[in-house]
Amino acid sequence: MIIKLKKDGQEADRLILFDFFKKNKIPFHYLSSEQIVITPRHTEIELVQDFSAVDSYIAIPTNYKLASKLYKNKTVVSVNGTEIGGGLFNVMAGPCSVEHEEQIFSTAEFLASKGVKFIRGGAYKPRTSPYSFSGLGVDGLKLLRKAADQYGLNVVTEILDLNVLDEVMNYSDVLQVGSRNMHNFYLLRELGKVRKPVLLKRGFQAKVVEWLLSAEYLLSGGNSEVILCERGIRSFDPLSRNVLDLGVVPLIKELSHLPVIIDPSHGTGASSRVIPASMAAAAIGADGILVEVHPNPAQALSDGDQAISFIQFDELLNNTQLLLNALGKHTDTQTSALKTPRL
Ligand code: PEP
Ligand code: MN
Repeated sequence: MIIKLKKDGQEADRLILFDFFKKNKIPFHYLSSEQIVITPRHTEIELVQDFSAVDSYIAIPTNYKLASKLYKNKTVVSVNGTEIGGGLFNVMAGPCSVEHEEQIFSTAEFLASKGVKFIRGGAYKPRTSPYSFSGLGVDGLKLLRKAADQYGLNVVTEILDLNVLDEVMNYSDVLQVGSRNMHNFYLLRELGKVRKPVLLKRGFQAKVVEWLLSAEYLLSGGNSEVILCERGIRSFDPLSRNVLDLGVVPLIKELSHLPVIIDPSHGTGASSRVIPASMAAAAIGADGILVEVHPNPAQALSDGDQAISFIQFDELLNNTQLLLNALGKHTDTQTSALKTPRL
């Protein structure tokens, strides 16, 4: 149940309502930024509808409430003037990891020349082996920000741990929560408090409802700027790194108002499959893609097998645009640069 409170209601009336909840041991969550109260069940309204503070209510039968389409029809996230979920197909691209100055600057220059608005790159990398390259840390963030600013791009980078939240907040425009952290509820709670969009990847073993409940952690904390990202789920077949669940796009569109993008790189695990998967993402109605691009994939320090070259990225963009244009849609690269470089 989502109970909408009267916008011009009195604080005293709200307190009477909250006291009633407390006395009757009814769990509730007050989200002041939206002037709503969320309760887990939808029978509470019979008890509280006559309270002065209450304006109206929405009965939502699922455990996720704020992420539900019953609460809201559409969320459009705006990042320095570029919209996500606003109708254009967002192309977010860049290397798996920020490695060195030349790598990230040449990538930024190339992407900007193609009209791309978002550069991705990890500075803190979750690696399966402790011996693998785990990112440049804050130096990587600085390089990424510098390159992005020089070419007027927005930065998407992973927030792996709360210890470095301030640094990552400082140097990024979109905070990526990785697949392994989708269930890190303490991290999600903190990110609910920040005022920066969060790109929430699906856990590779997560059910859709679990994913939406993770989004609910962010939304219930007051961060309404959430972008979902399907990046493939684990299966039994070693031939594909992950199984890209494309069917989840129309499913999310039915269940939620949040934008949903596809990561064709982790979703397939092989550069040869990234272009068809990107086109499929466009065809099935995703709001965009997050794709790994590297100036020299063979030399990449992480995820080289799935990184596409600049030439392949060109092909990806052309094919995806052709497909979208046939559907009367466009990529966000087909509009002129909206962001003024910071320098
Ligand atoms: C990444 O985007 O480089 C990454 C680590 O992704 P995921 O969390 O989906 O594995
Ligand atoms: Mn990667």
